[in-house]
Amino acid sequence: MIPYGKQSISDEDIQAVVDVLKSDWLTQGPKVPEFEQAVAEYVNVKHAVAVNSATSALHIACLALGVTKADEVWTSPNSFVASANCALYCGASIDFVDIDLSTGNMCMNALETKLTTRQKTHQPLPKVVIPVHFAGQPCDLETLHKLSVQYGFKVIEDASHAIGGTYSDSSVGSCTYSDITVFSFHPVKIMTSAEGGIATTNCEKLARKMQLLRSHGVTNLESEMTESSHGPWYYQQIELGFNYRLTDLQAALGISQLSRVTEFVTKRNQMAENYIELLKQSDSIIPLTVKNDRLSAFHLFVVRLPNLNQDTHAKVVTYLREHGVFAHVHYIPIHLQPYYQQLGFKKGDYPNAERYYQQAITLPLYPELTMIQQTHVISVLNNAIKEYC
Ligand SMILES: *Cc1c(COP(=O)(O)O)cnc(C)c1O
Repeated sequence: MIPYGKQSISDEDIQAVVDVLKSDWLTQGPKVPEFEQAVAEYVNVKHAVAVNSATSALHIACLALGVTKADEVWTSPNSFVASANCALYCGASIDFVDIDLSTGNMCMNALETKLTTRQKTHQPLPKVVIPVHFAGQPCDLETLHKLSVQYGFKVIEDASHAIGGTYSDSSVGSCTYSDITVFSFHPVKIMTSAEGGIATTNCEKLARKMQLLRSHGVTNLESEMTESSHGPWYYQQIELGFNYRLTDLQAALGISQLSRVTEFVTKRNQMAENYIELLKQSDSIIPLTVKNDRLSAFHLFVVRLPNLNQDTHAKVVTYLREHGVFAHVHYIPIHLQPYYQQLGFKKGDYPNAERYYQQAITLPLYPELTMIQQTHVISVLNNAIKEYC
């Protein structure tokens, strides 16, 4: 079976983890700050705060920006549920902005329309907007940034798919157009630390707040304490934090993987070009478009089949899996999840995300995929279409 995604682990990666196992620190040692420094340098940002998942990073990013139960957070319905859940963890309300069919990213026209309507009718504006760089392609960050200034909201980029991507010459994660950027290092993503995530920011205050929140809200810095120290053992809890720490084992794997991110992204782009070339003759299979001013990290290679309906969508994906191609679908619109329907969302709320979902198939894409396998994937897909469309 050809999987849809797969990590690439080298002998150096393995040695890096073994070295930590033989060292004094399995967690809270030197590897975590080393990893943070390396990521910060790679994406050209001032601060990076490593945590045990992107989900945790989204949560503490929202808290650091002051999201409370009085607030609204907006995100894209075409994402993993974690992009929306983080708002609910803070007790805030969640709402969605529909997507562009051709990229799968949040539609900036839809965002602007929603903001204008809300303002005219004196309804709440969002405290934070969380765009998702779907499949690895950065969304239209410059427009988003302008809207954030005009309407006074903060921006957290969910870049779980997009480390190594660029937007008009700035690296994703540099926070040129946002307050905080979040990456995931789950094994299916571009690079991995097994589980893990990181939040980047240029704001020292936000970075410090996130550092506190990832480890119980406890400080060792006398300057942050409200009472004088009891002695050299003393620490003080000044926030309600969590245990969201990354281990040194994971950080060592992350550091080693980071040295190959550029290579991973280059390979993924070459493979995406191969697929696009193989699909050139077909007018019933449409790859997502990537805009000229940006580099997609190509976490996913998604095609749209506009002729599909609910029944044939399932048949085509089943056919692929029965013929050795583990195709997948990204994403079930978040607002259609039972948990979100119970909050009041319903079918028809975000028509593009729903239409897109019915048409989308994710094809295998990972560094070790071969050209022969890619050719096989497309021939199986063509056979499936002949059979069901
Ligand atoms: C994977 C993913 C997450 C969650 O990442 P974890 O590290 O598994 O918590 C969040 N948002 C998006 C868009 C993702 O793809």
